[in-house]
Amino acid sequence: MFMKSLEYDRYGEESLRKVLKIKTKLRQAMGNFLRNNGFLEISPVIISPETDPLYHATGKAEFDYYDGKYQLTRSMILHKQIALLTSDKIFTYSPNVRLEPVELADTGKHLVEFTQLDLEVKDATREDIIDLGERLLIHTLKEVKKDCKEELDYFKRDLRIPEAPFQRIKYHHAYNQYGRIFEEVLSQEKEDPFWLIDIPSEEREFYDREDPSRPGILRDMDLIYPEGFGEALSGGEREHELDRIKQRITQQELDLTNFKNYLEFAEKGLPPSAGFGIGLERLARYVCGLEEIKDTLLFPKIPGKIRL
Ligand code: AMP
Ligand code: MG
Repeated sequence: MFMKSLEYDRYGEESLRKVLKIKTKLRQAMGNFLRNNGFLEISPVIISPETDPLYHATGKAEFDYYDGKYQLTRSMILHKQIALLTSDKIFTYSPNVRLEPVELADTGKHLVEFTQLDLEVKDATREDIIDLGERLLIHTLKEVKKDCKEELDYFKRDLRIPEAPFQRIKYHHAYNQYGRIFEEVLSQEKEDPFWLIDIPSEEREFYDREDPSRPGILRDMDLIYPEGFGEALSGGEREHELDRIKQRITQQELDLTNFKNYLEFAEKGLPPSAGFGIGLERLARYVCGLEEIKDTLLFPKIPGKIRL
């Protein structure tokens, strides 16, 4: 009984070995694509006094350290913008900890600990980053198809290679057509990944840049997987001017003092940029065609549960 609760047998399963092979390939293909395109890889930040506030309810993972507090990284967005002071194109495989509520335990796509391939490019526009994302995904899927045939066969997965440019759908258009559940409906309906663009500012965090010519609409995007697999990545252009950043933080009723260090950098000057973060486990789930994201890693942390 004790052994069963530990899921000891799970670790001997062939499927887990096959997923790991595919994830190893995904990391390699994406990393090499970016290195070959002039990106420098930075180390992940695990703890920081300031991190992504996120726009949905997520518990705070923090601990005391001397006279202050550290938080576990929810995303490296703030650090990515600062990293561009050192190099024009950066990426990292960033472990994120998000204390997701138990209500998300059965979505099949939420973990409490996961990894993002997170990248940012100085002076880039949304257009540049959409193009980069399409090339990165197509390259990666082709590489997996070439080198992991046995594994894809094991999962009975006939992986389609999408063609650029991917379809773009405006948030308001999708919302008006299908209501709140538009993402699920569209994801189920499509055969290839597509972009969701022009998300309203109240739906997203302060750092996504508002379109100067369309107040309330962001110059951002999500990539949505087809076949019901849902969101793959989020990204966009960034707010980089101090006044704009402060205004957006205040509009979202957040406390400016929670971003004190970041704001000091913004005061000195942050470059304009755009970028995105793509979840590695969600990509692996899509590539393998798995029901459950927990089957993409050895030590899954499911919302609402404590596990090794
Ligand atoms: P976000 O900035 O919140 O859009 O997160 C970036 C990407 O990370 C998402 O598009 C997903 O691929 C992935 N992601 C976000 N939250 C989770 C989670 N709780 N579990 C697994 N992957 C996630
Ligand atoms: Mg997102």
